[in-house]
Amino acid sequence: MSESKHFYELFQPSHYDVFIDINRQNKTIKGTSTITGDAKENKIAIHQKYLKVSSVEANGKVVNFSLDNANEAIQIELFQTGQTVIKIDYTAPLTDTMMGIYPSYFQINGEKKQLIGTQFETTAARQAFPCVDEPEAKATFSLAIKFDEQPGETIIANMPENHVENGVHYFDETLRMSTYLVAFAFGEMQNKQTTTKSGVKIGVFATKAHQAKELDFALDIAKRSIEFYEDFYQTPYPLPHSWQLALPDFSAGAMENWGLVTYREAYLLLDPDNTSLSTKQQAATVIAHELAHQWFGDLVTMKWWDDLWLNESFANMMEYVCIDAIEPDWHIWELFQISEAPAALQRDAIDGVQSVHVQVEDPAEIDSIFDSAIVYAKGARLLVMVRSLLGDDALRSGLKQYFDAHKYHNATGTNLWSALGDASGLDVGKIMNSWLEQPGYPVVSASVIDGQLTISQKQFFVGNGNDIGRKWQIPLNSNYNAAPKIFTEEKMVLGNYKELRKSAGIPFRLNVGNNSHFIVNYDDQLLNDILDEDNKLDSISQLQILQDLRLLAEGKQISYAKIVPLLPRFAKSNSQIVSATMYRIADKLEEFLVPDSPEEKYFKTFINRLSFDQVKRLGWQPKDNETIDDQLMRPGVLNASLYAKNPQTITDAHQIYTNQLSDLSKISAAIRPLVLMSEMDNYGSAELFEQFFKLYQKTSDASYKTALQLAITSTKDSALITKIIDEFKNADVIKPQDLRGWFRNVLNNPKGEQAAWGWLRDNWQWLEDTVGGDMEFTTYITVVASIFHTSKRLKEFKEFFEPKINTPGLTREIKMDLNLIDSKVQLIESEKESVIEAIKTAR
Ligand SMILES: [Zn+2]
Repeated sequence: MSESKHFYELFQPSHYDVFIDINRQNKTIKGTSTITGDAKENKIAIHQKYLKVSSVEANGKVVNFSLDNANEAIQIELFQTGQTVIKIDYTAPLTDTMMGIYPSYFQINGEKKQLIGTQFETTAARQAFPCVDEPEAKATFSLAIKFDEQPGETIIANMPENHVENGVHYFDETLRMSTYLVAFAFGEMQNKQTTTKSGVKIGVFATKAHQAKELDFALDIAKRSIEFYEDFYQTPYPLPHSWQLALPDFSAGAMENWGLVTYREAYLLLDPDNTSLSTKQQAATVIAHELAHQWFGDLVTMKWWDDLWLNESFANMMEYVCIDAIEPDWHIWELFQISEAPAALQRDAIDGVQSVHVQVEDPAEIDSIFDSAIVYAKGARLLVMVRSLLGDDALRSGLKQYFDAHKYHNATGTNLWSALGDASGLDVGKIMNSWLEQPGYPVVSASVIDGQLTISQKQFFVGNGNDIGRKWQIPLNSNYNAAPKIFTEEKMVLGNYKELRKSAGIPFRLNVGNNSHFIVNYDDQLLNDILDEDNKLDSISQLQILQDLRLLAEGKQISYAKIVPLLPRFAKSNSQIVSATMYRIADKLEEFLVPDSPEEKYFKTFINRLSFDQVKRLGWQPKDNETIDDQLMRPGVLNASLYAKNPQTITDAHQIYTNQLSDLSKISAAIRPLVLMSEMDNYGSAELFEQFFKLYQKTSDASYKTALQLAITSTKDSALITKIIDEFKNADVIKPQDLRGWFRNVLNNPKGEQAAWGWLRDNWQWLEDTVGGDMEFTTYITVVASIFHTSKRLKEFKEFFEPKINTPGLTREIKMDLNLIDSKVQLIESEKESVIEAIKTAR
């Protein structure tokens, strides 16, 4: 059998009876998978991974089989083709990998407990039961689960339980669905439930380590999201319930299992009395994302993993469409502009990046295509571009048609474009193919040449790029009628600039609204014209100017020194997204400086000047009736002021700390991380460090935990840093799901960089064994590359990672990161002096 053949071509399951008996004490799984389906050939293959198979029967007769671990398969020889019932008995170990069926650990009053849950995407259903583990192999499932059950424990799954017999829990048969979306969980849980207008039961489930009120926010958002989607898609939610479950150990952010969505606790549970707005927004968008998938992904599923973007890009756009509709005051698209848009623009500028649509076969490669900046952020940005071309009416009617045509089945990108094309009359596929099939994006240069306003497109690179003359079909969204709606040429003259400027009465702009995936390089004349009227620009336009300039500087098309003098004027803005974008540039400038150098002092003075007036205006504590912008920008402004060592800001933080000494969790959540970090930084001691570490282990509030983690990792004491690193492999203190965050924070601390980097190199094998089967693994390399920017580190990075370049799933990441670090080293070397001069003289 050729390796590239999908198993579904050999055997097409229609129904599974799955019996699984799980024993937590012995850490074993014992099961029987009975699959009814249509055998297309005599020799078929069923997926398995890490399973011990004891017998295989087909239509009641024992048949020959062999385990083929290289292909994660059981090879089976049938007596005949056609309708066949295959029964497979197996056992497997229950392991702590956060994949397949796995335990999550938590404590109640010091007593250790377990909650068993599942994570099957992308290819881990085969670790739980033998199956044709491919998205196209949709079937119905009847689950029967037994476990070493204790009083007070409950079990939930995709569908409602229908009866219990001899300790076995039987669940209603599912609708036709893909294996990677099957889910169940059991243990001691609390839950809260409500019902949508259309009668769908909504529930939130969590361990009893949490306060009951922590479930309320998610319950409300989940209910209103399902109601929103039923209306927006004009397609009913097809299952009787939608359960949301928080798992204490969870590798990804959340997982859209049909009817039983699983989450990291941080994204589902929050204290309604003390949680920052930004944390609430994050949780709400994650919930809305997973619930968008219940239709887009679950009801209609991509045919194969190459169209993963169909699922993820779409859900990533819809999370904002949904939250914008149900919480309009949040202006959630602004969050899109400071998170998804820059993430996509940053990574997509590095040569060697994957395209959104990408060919993939090997399971290790499938996991590696879950690149959050590309498949999620860039894909969402492309769909936002489509949405603004089509308008919502055509989008909705196209989607309804798409769901009607493909529900309970699979689809490809082409199917979506044709549905949207029918609804809008536009050739959507033609425009989108240039964006989906090609990696990267263009920079559009706008200049006045011999009096003529001229635009041209060229691929934009940060670092070395091999320009092969790619061209895009660019929705220009210009404010001048002379510019075409879609720009397809390499170069175009729009007309006499003076005349165009006079008749328009406003400066020339491209990509108004920042919804198209390109950046603009205006010549000085055009840029100054825009900046002269910057008080007339809305906040997204201001953000866009800063963001494009930053990228152009990273791509060495302009100098960073040119941006520095612009920052003070944007520092006055009361928009949180302009403020966030400005401080992001300030963060980049820090890379030009050696820690504790005289230059760093100038820089701190500069940052203090940028933040001073806003600190005075905002203060530490929220004011009654303050704007959402003020709430959201306060932490960034205070953080800058603390970095600059503003004495008043430090004293104020210490005062807040002292006032709340009896219960630090009560400090307002938005400023809590800053107060604790400042305390550690300016008044820290070994005792304080120990105290924070204890609090970290005790609390079950994820946002408080994050604040403590930030404070602990900000210590400048190398003995204490060693203590942190000693806990990296201790899952009782630092959960594997949180390790990357800890690692990043220590690496990002100049006093911890050497130790964290040493730890990574010494423990690479351990990391591979622990999180290697998981899509998070490669992101450890991404984290390192995002921080390193010196020639010494580049050399060490090369020495360590180049020998690993052929590891499946790592190749692309290592190549891109070598290029990325190299580009930073070169940029800093060539511009260091002019940037420092600009900082010294900026007013
Ligand atoms: Zn998703």
